[in-house]
Amino acid sequence: MTETDEKDVHTEHCCAEHGCKYGDPDCPVVNDIKLQSYPCERCDEDARDDEKQGEAIYRAVYQHQGGKWEANESREVWSETAKRYRRFLREIERREK
Ligand SMILES: [Zn+2]
Ligand SMILES: [Zn+2]
Repeated sequence: MTETDEKDVHTEHCCAEHGCKYGDPDCPVVNDIKLQSYPCERCDEDARDDEKQGEAIYRAVYQHQGGKWEANESREVWSETAKRYRRFLREIERREK
């Protein structure tokens, strides 16, 4: 499966973490085929935790690469890192079933 940048109702309203707004089991966002364009309401609530989690993951990875902590220290990077981490985790969990 490949992720694309194409937009549709699902990418505008659904959430990979919190589910399809339309209850569609084939939702491309929930099934990791497309990336959602915006965080949903519950995502906003989780965003603070995302930042913390993402920063921790990001720092851990950079430390692995020699402890270099370079410029792009931002909330956005941390949140994306946390989301990416959970997406990979879901893929791995799915593979194990
Ligand atoms: Zn959907
Ligand atoms: Zn959400």
